[in-house]
Amino acid sequence: MKPNFNLPFTIYRLPLVTCFLFFFFHASSAYSQGVVINGKVLAKVGPVTVLVKKDNKLIATATVDDASKFQIKIEDLKTTASNIRVDLFITGIGMDTSYAKSIVLIKNSTVNCDLEFPNPHNKNVLGDVTCPKCGKTNMTIPIVYQPFVGIRNNQMGAGTDVESKFSPEWYCKRCNIKF
Ligand SMILES: [Zn+2]
Repeated sequence: MKPNFNLPFTIYRLPLVTCFLFFFFHASSAYSQGVVINGKVLAKVGPVTVLVKKDNKLIATATVDDASKFQIKIEDLKTTASNIRVDLFITGIGMDTSYAKSIVLIKNSTVNCDLEFPNPHNKNVLGDVTCPKCGKTNMTIPIVYQPFVGIRNNQMGAGTDVESKFSPEWYCKRCNIKF
């Protein structure tokens, strides 16, 4: 059977319009779930990369610009929750990944977040270093810049004897982070 070309033009156009509307609304709703993180790494370190991890899984990255500023867009948080907690890390060439900060992302919003780097090492009244993530001291051990990897004598081996001023100095056994 021949197609009836006498049908009004809109009939032919309808699937196309429906298709367009579907993609338009789908795309816009996905975007509205997203978040933007704007910030600056408060150190002159060159082209470091900021990592965003949720439950230890990498979900986004951005490299800082010449002014150490970064912008990270996450278009879909992939969760039904209205907000999620994520951890920010800083890494770079010849540099171990250091924990920077934990923040809460709220869907469809922009958060401003500057990162101190290296992480300031807060101590309790006894002089023990506090983990910046869990806020406790009892699982925090020093990182030693020696060729071994892993924990020996309550020290975390960095696996290298090369240490820079941006190398992390402490490790939290509870959180599995270096800072
Ligand atoms: Zn911790």
